[in-house]
Amino acid sequence: MKAKIVSLPGDGIGPEVVLEAERILATVAVKFGHEFEMQRFPMGGCAIDEFGTALPDHTLAACKESNAVLLGAVGGPKWDDPKAKTRPEVGLLKIRKELQLFANLRPIKTYAALLESSPLKAEIVDGVDILFFRELTGGIYFGESGRRPHPSGEEAFNVMQYSTEEVARIVRLSADAARNRRKKLTMVDKANVLEASRLWRQVSAEIISKEYPDLEYNVVLVDAMAMHLLSRPRDFDVVVTENMFGDILTDEGSMLTGSLGMLPSASIGSAGPGLYEPIHGSAPDIAGKGIANPLATILAAAMLLRHSLSLEAEAACIETAVDKVLANGFRTKDIARGGPALSTSEMGNKVLETLLAL
Ligand code: NAD
Repeated sequence: MKAKIVSLPGDGIGPEVVLEAERILATVAVKFGHEFEMQRFPMGGCAIDEFGTALPDHTLAACKESNAVLLGAVGGPKWDDPKAKTRPEVGLLKIRKELQLFANLRPIKTYAALLESSPLKAEIVDGVDILFFRELTGGIYFGESGRRPHPSGEEAFNVMQYSTEEVARIVRLSADAARNRRKKLTMVDKANVLEASRLWRQVSAEIISKEYPDLEYNVVLVDAMAMHLLSRPRDFDVVVTENMFGDILTDEGSMLTGSLGMLPSASIGSAGPGLYEPIHGSAPDIAGKGIANPLATILAAAMLLRHSLSLEAEAACIETAVDKVLANGFRTKDIARGGPALSTSEMGNKVLETLLAL
């Protein structure tokens, strides 16, 4: 296969962790006989410094022409001035909008070797493997909003709004993913209170009964889901939900693993390139020290192969290599619990060596 992959290393530890993921992708290409054309472009604070904008036109054009985009992280204290004309995060919002990335995928997987890092008991989190689908471009974050006069002063409002089409496209994506996993799909809503949730429930039920009768499908109210995630997270396989519920539940879910440096995420649309990134930020406190954990970005590269290039075996190979490296006791500082720790590039090397030996 020939594919164009654009990297946006960004700021802080972004370039350090992206470099390791690029090395892994180059190795996968050689091992499996693919041709990946990889090119870097500026985005975030570094792009503001050089071009006065967080997402320069030539970066956006390259992303649109690519098959997939790998992002490090953007932002840092240098660009935090609230009076600044623009901010690094503006680039993030713009690229998601321009590439029409309506689904955010967040795998929440615990590693046997890292169970002690979780704030929850090992017997609860052992074996957790959930894939969240959060709707990313609709709902209350994008509905009508404003303030108006009120006898007590003012009132403020935000409208939660969804169309059949917006619900249907992400439900189908999540159901397709469930089919390739343990065939269980959970839809989370608040249908006892919200009309928008009642539309989600109706559209989702119709699609699943007609097109995915092979799936085990259930619906859970969002407040109950917040509890189930802490009490019985192993019971869930694929979870689909609207924007704000997904925002909150995926952050809660990521705490199950206890290690920010391990979690990737993907944002995808119906066509065109997807965007793959670690969930952590630019970690300015450790930038330039060579100690950042590159595994979240390496796992994001695995998601890129699976979801944008349909290279399942290659993606699984990277994930197996990461599993093995951890099982063999190798750690970066953030997950070493005071024990011996590898540098960013040493961890990258361990994954590379393991991948080549598989
Ligand atoms: P952060 O995720 O950057 O860091 C939180 C803590 O986790 C820090 O102590 C950091 O050292 C540690 N950490 C994060 N990733 C790590 C890794 N790979 N290896 C080892 N340790 C790691 O969050 P923050 O400090 O709140 O934000 C820093 C900057 O990043 C801010 O400017 C913020 O706006 C930005 N940010 C960007 C994104 C993005 O680009 N998608 C996401 C979140 C935050």
